[in-house]
Amino acid sequence: MSINIIKMEKKLKKELDEERYQHTLGVMFTAASLAMCYGADIERAQAAGLLHDCAKCIPNDKKIKMCEQYGIEINKTERRVPSLLHSKLGAYLAKSRYGIDDPEVLSAIQYHTTGKPNMTVLEKIIFIADYIEPMRFKAKNLAAIRKMAFHDLNQTVCMILEDTLHYLDEGQGEVDEMSRSAFRYYYNLFHDTEDDGSSLTR
Ligand code: FE
Ligand code: FE
Repeated sequence: MSINIIKMEKKLKKELDEERYQHTLGVMFTAASLAMCYGADIERAQAAGLLHDCAKCIPNDKKIKMCEQYGIEINKTERRVPSLLHSKLGAYLAKSRYGIDDPEVLSAIQYHTTGKPNMTVLEKIIFIADYIEPMRFKAKNLAAIRKMAFHDLNQTVCMILEDTLHYLDEGQGEVDEMSRSAFRYYYNLFHDTEDDGSSLTR
């Protein structure tokens, strides 16, 4: 696969505000570092990191219109919180406007917000890079999560999902069902299966 990162950067810069563009670069470099650490394909990690938020700055009503126009299914949570659609729509635009046809890169973009059960290495890398890139500062446990990211991908995904669900359940936002099933899956990798972690996150 040969992807022209520089060309994509130039195009993307016009679509995002400055803050989002800087975040995007942070995710791209962090994803590349994680790919080095885990022996994943660096170029794919860069491409997915660069494009993961390519639909983020589209106004919410336009996101809905575009999804309807392109036949992208909108679930109940996404109807209420249209900003969640930037992942699905982003995967669509990565293909149609940026010429990405690698299904793994596209699904890493698609699931970067919610995560999902049984992710590929690249999907985990993008999910994690989005959370830990250098410009992030608000989330709790960031130092521990950043350290874990370079030791164990599954543990890191589990930590991020647990903190995200707690944060959202405390009234800061809505939880997509996919995030809950992702958390149950990763929690069960480290705990006995009688306990699915739902007491931790409802
Ligand atoms: Fe995002
Ligand atoms: Fe992001």
